[in-house]
Amino acid sequence: MQVGKTVSARILDGKAIARQIEAEIADQVVDFIQNNALQPCLAAVLVGGDPASEVYVRNKRKACDRANIESQLHRLPADVGEDDLLRVIAKLNKPDDVHGILVQLPLPDHLDASRILQAVNPLKDVDAFHPENVGRIVQGQPRFLPCTPHGIQQLLLRENIPLAGSHVVVVGRSDIVGKPIANMLMQRGRGGDATVTVCHSRTADLPAVTRLADILIVAIGRPRFVTADMVKPGAIVIDVGINRVDNRLVGDVDFDGVREVAAAITPVPGGVGPLTVAMLMHNTYQAAQKMV
Ligand code: NAP
Repeated sequence: MQVGKTVSARILDGKAIARQIEAEIADQVVDFIQNNALQPCLAAVLVGGDPASEVYVRNKRKACDRANIESQLHRLPADVGEDDLLRVIAKLNKPDDVHGILVQLPLPDHLDASRILQAVNPLKDVDAFHPENVGRIVQGQPRFLPCTPHGIQQLLLRENIPLAGSHVVVVGRSDIVGKPIANMLMQRGRGGDATVTVCHSRTADLPAVTRLADILIVAIGRPRFVTADMVKPGAIVIDVGINRVDNRLVGDVDFDGVREVAAAITPVPGGVGPLTVAMLMHNTYQAAQKMV
């Protein structure tokens, strides 16, 4: 990849690409409904009334409307027992007219999130959090790709950002972003073939590592943590972070400083977030296709 000092980075408009993906899915779903007399359906399970979770679930349901996908919302009280929640999931696992199940995270502390996620039927696991689906990704035989990493991969592909042979540095090793995106980008073939380095809170001299990145992906949940001096001139910067500061959403990257150094950068909001939702629509449609 060519590296050189740039004046101001190109803004990678995740929202526009997400809308494009949703429109593509909406057209395909119209045909699917006509051919199969069946509408793809996503069931969201929301435990408690966490305001951020409420917003996320509302946005996902609006995206379902745009993509011609039916949506259900199953609300449970914050103090729901684990067995009661497992019973709701068991019910959703069965019927053929529910294709995707989404358990909105985070769950209240008294619930064992990994036990709950493992209870979701892997064929309806549109978040791709079930160990069976995670294992398939690692082996390069994915059933579903997790939504945020898939959104990032689609953004890179659709913006013609070269991945093969590029050095991708991922900051953050969570199960929902850092680990899966690292895994996906190192797989063989289109959308992969990158050389991937993963960093975390114990990484020594983090700026020295991030400065090696042709593509820097940051998912740590620390507002404006990555500053211009941590970025190689001409790098592509993908900011996954969503942090509320002074009633505004900001990313994990210091956007104003880094855009003076990077070749391209995702904004927050309007970058990775909408792509995550679009890829959830993709997975729900895929789940319905697999069931007919
Ligand atoms: P997470 O589970 O909160 O984990 C944070 C990761 O960042 C950990 O691996 C941690 O390292 C690492 N980290 C924390 N401080 C660090 C530091 N100072 N230097 C280097 N690494 C550090 O992560 P997450 O769930 O992936 O969330 C990360 C951010 O992305 C949050 O702001 C979240 O809201 C956002 N997010 C956005 C979307 C979207 O659709 N846009 C989706 C998911 C998440 P250790 O492992 O060593 O503790």
